[in-house]
Amino acid sequence: MGRFEDERRELIGSLRDKGITDEKTLDAMMRVERHLFVMDAFVNRAYEDTALPISKSQTISQPYTVAFMTQLLAPKASDKVLEIGTGSGYQAAILAELGCRVFTIERHYELHLQARNLLERLGYRVATRSGDGTVGWSEFAPYDGVLVTAAAPDVPPALLQQLAIGGRLVIPIGDLDTQQLHVVTKLEDGVATKMINGFKFVPLIGKQGWNSKL
Ligand code: SAM
Repeated sequence: MGRFEDERRELIGSLRDKGITDEKTLDAMMRVERHLFVMDAFVNRAYEDTALPISKSQTISQPYTVAFMTQLLAPKASDKVLEIGTGSGYQAAILAELGCRVFTIERHYELHLQARNLLERLGYRVATRSGDGTVGWSEFAPYDGVLVTAAAPDVPPALLQQLAIGGRLVIPIGDLDTQQLHVVTKLEDGVATKMINGFKFVPLIGKQGWNSKL
């Protein structure tokens, strides 16, 4: 039996109790070893349902948030998905486990490098890049889904532009204290937006995000 398998199973059970219903997402989260994505000092807390610090004053998101956002994105296997905010690489690994073709951008070079090495070592074929994700990654557009894991003041126009018709953008929008998760579906003639309250993310910093003095 793998390390922390019981703890991971317990975490998955608690996500189910908290209302996560998508079995594919839960299975993917059962397969990805979150303890490999956290700092050594937090390995024993990797299966608590809580965000944990990673380098550069950033966080690996709370497992519930990862599950909830993935469920909202509802990707199909082989969908092309752009993630903004690679952080530890954990969310990218979950999307890769779901069979998505994953493209992920991280603003901090050091985090990008760590995540890229880890994802490679674990055998995930994820395209990673360091840079400002608020302007997207136009070379590979359009995307079936875009997932932003940091909080933006507004929907960055480039991310909407790079979304396929029928594609979904999941993004926390709000001020620096609390945000709403927006699920924006791109239609032939506009967008349909659903909002869910009560989330807290680190800021999305960039040209079409918060300014870099934060
Ligand atoms: N998805 C990550 C994981 O699974 O560990 C969680 C990431 S953390 C909550 C948000 C990340 O967004 C941080 O690593 C931060 O540096 C990054 N970020 C903030 N603004 C960004 C931008 N404009 N472009 C790319 N990454 C950005």
